[in-house]
Amino acid sequence: MTNSISLAQGREYLAIPGPSVMPDAVLQAMHRPSPNIYEGELIEMMPALTRDLCRVARTDHNVAIYIANGHGTWEAALSNVIAPGETVLAPASGRFTHGWAEMAEGIGAKVDLIDFGLSSAWDFDQIADTLRADETHRIKAVLAVHVDTSSSIRNDIPALRALLDDLGHPALLMADCIASLGCDRFEMDPWGVDVMVTACQKGLMTPAGTGFVFFNDKAQAKQASMPRVSQYWDWQPRANPELFYQYFNGTAPTHHLYGLRAALDMIHAEGMEQVWARHERLATAIWAACETWAEGGALQINVADRSLRSHAVTALRLTDGRGTPLREFTESQLGLTLGIGLGMEDWDGCFRLGHMGYINAQMVMAMLGGMETAMAALDIPRGNGALEAAAAVLASKD
Ligand SMILES: *Cc1c(COP(=O)(O)O)cnc(C)c1O
Repeated sequence: MTNSISLAQGREYLAIPGPSVMPDAVLQAMHRPSPNIYEGELIEMMPALTRDLCRVARTDHNVAIYIANGHGTWEAALSNVIAPGETVLAPASGRFTHGWAEMAEGIGAKVDLIDFGLSSAWDFDQIADTLRADETHRIKAVLAVHVDTSSSIRNDIPALRALLDDLGHPALLMADCIASLGCDRFEMDPWGVDVMVTACQKGLMTPAGTGFVFFNDKAQAKQASMPRVSQYWDWQPRANPELFYQYFNGTAPTHHLYGLRAALDMIHAEGMEQVWARHERLATAIWAACETWAEGGALQINVADRSLRSHAVTALRLTDGRGTPLREFTESQLGLTLGIGLGMEDWDGCFRLGHMGYINAQMVMAMLGGMETAMAALDIPRGNGALEAAAAVLASKD
């Protein structure tokens, strides 16, 4: 359904869960001629860049940078620590865990997958049973997706660490923070995460194309015991380069690095605690609106329990397959693009809101106002007062 006149002309708003909105400062930092990749500024900026990346991840250990998207970092991380025939455990709360598990199979690993469905967090009793049964420590790593972007479940990584410790299980704890880093609280060293993968186009606000693998000494020890590691994925020269080209095993992603520098400056000027608090407050406003709309019976929030919801993405469902028409309306009539549903059976009913990275209160109100407008235009039943509920959260002093 469309209005007689479109109201979409103007600055568009891409509110999908990655790639996220890029700050002008990031775009401007990239608008320059190619730099020299043999000496000068680009080479000199690398130590501070990797240090500031590690500060976002809350780690004093290593980071290897790859010219890759998130999928590339999945394979990079696995290739360094999992030999063909070794087993990994994948507790799945959505499509992305399955994706990482499939990639593990692709490099010859055996995968024990525990499927918790598409709207439930990990069940630690079930994970404990599996780990306890693994008396010979066949399982070499647990593939833990922190926020599964398809379901918008946020899993409890510290609790998984505590479980491994309680059981004395030596498996590496490998976390996918592609959707959560720079949005939801994540602290690699305090949480005892051994390997963490992420990419630049979500909370890190830069164009897709660079990915990061963080690893600690325990992960490095496992890497050192590998029969072989592919030269391109080998994280050692990338994290500890003697020559500049070793950072990337070839030409650097020059402009990405300038964009990333600008993004890291913004993140650290704001401060990690404040970045996390902002995402939490904005997410809470979005939930308040969605919970109010849900009283009308047509809208459902995929994750019922607030404490299990991501602060960066919200998966929603409309009855009678009205998610797709809603998205089409907001995009064509309002200039607001919402995310498609991913991994869900009800393709046309499901959709997602991205609220990660460079996003503030007025953008959240615009997103919610766009949804209210689309639901009005499409005659979708909904509770009254959703925008007021969101505004109250944003206005709250505590
Ligand atoms: C986006 C995402 C991925 C995939 O990243 P790509 O850059 O699209 O390859 C993997 N895991 C999670 C949790 C994600 O959000």
